[in-house]
Amino acid sequence: MTSVTVIGLGPMGQAVAGAYLDSGYQVTVWNRTTARADELVVRGARRAESVEAALTAGGPVVLSLTDYDAMDAVLAQVPGAALDGRTLVNLTSDTPDRARQAAAWLAGRGAVHVTGGVQVPPPGIGTPDAMTYYSGPQDAIEGHRPALEVLTGIEYLGEDPGLAALYYQIGIDMFWTALAGYLHGQAVAEANGIPAEDFLPHAVRSMDLRYFLEFYAPRITAGDHEGDVDRISMGAASLEHVLHTTRASGVDDSIPAAVLKIFRQGIASGHGRNSLTSLIGVLKQR
Ligand code: NDP
Repeated sequence: MTSVTVIGLGPMGQAVAGAYLDSGYQVTVWNRTTARADELVVRGARRAESVEAALTAGGPVVLSLTDYDAMDAVLAQVPGAALDGRTLVNLTSDTPDRARQAAAWLAGRGAVHVTGGVQVPPPGIGTPDAMTYYSGPQDAIEGHRPALEVLTGIEYLGEDPGLAALYYQIGIDMFWTALAGYLHGQAVAEANGIPAEDFLPHAVRSMDLRYFLEFYAPRITAGDHEGDVDRISMGAASLEHVLHTTRASGVDDSIPAAVLKIFRQGIASGHGRNSLTSLIGVLKQR
């Protein structure tokens, strides 16, 4: 039977361990709060009595912790020798620098660090379209491909341990700001008596930015910021209308006000007649 260990049993670790149990793996689990392993043990998982026992149970070790500080706290409980020869698949999210530091620290103790950035929430684990960013040693990832694919598909980004964390953070950056845009829009809708269910088809259409991304990306690559289709000055005028509508609705305006501030900086930098894409240069100067 193929073995795997899961350390960290928050919602994500629970889903990960559950997917391995469903796939017939011998699963060893460890969690700081031991009771969180109870249901998995009933389903057939083995409870490790210590971090060291979890690390040495056999197979790859999947870490699913809040952040890399939590990982440091967990690994501080074991003698360095317990890490020798282990492969740690770290699905914990944190910064690219923390991932690089962890990989170097583990390499010094004979262990291999695979950085993972899961792109779905826990219910998505084990579903066909789910994907995870991975970076680190390609041979380790290929060697554990069947086990990794129990969870999600693999998007391998390269040897640099920071890459998976970088792509993950960029994706999350876009996710949070886009979702905040939706929540703000819905707040204005509700303030005007429009329930979420009624606004849903309009929200879906407004949030579908695929056309714009595919239009802008080649122009950004080419350094073409010509304002032949859109201009920052037009965007700023539009955002003024959004602000007025927001205030008239009695809704907090801090999100559109923050966006307008960036557009005004673009105008102050002399880009008013250029495309919105020239804001990338303005943002990079901050
Ligand atoms: P949680 O923060 O809910 O749980 C993480 C686990 O970390 C818990 O088992 C917790 O133990 C443990 N932990 C935290 N601090 C310590 C510590 N100092 N020492 C030991 N253990 C500690 O996270 P999730 O399960 O939701 O997610 C795990 C990772 O996956 C995160 O990095 C998250 O960003 C990432 N992720 C999560 C997604 C989601 O939708 N949930 C989606 C994509 C990625 P205890 O039970 O004892 O508190």
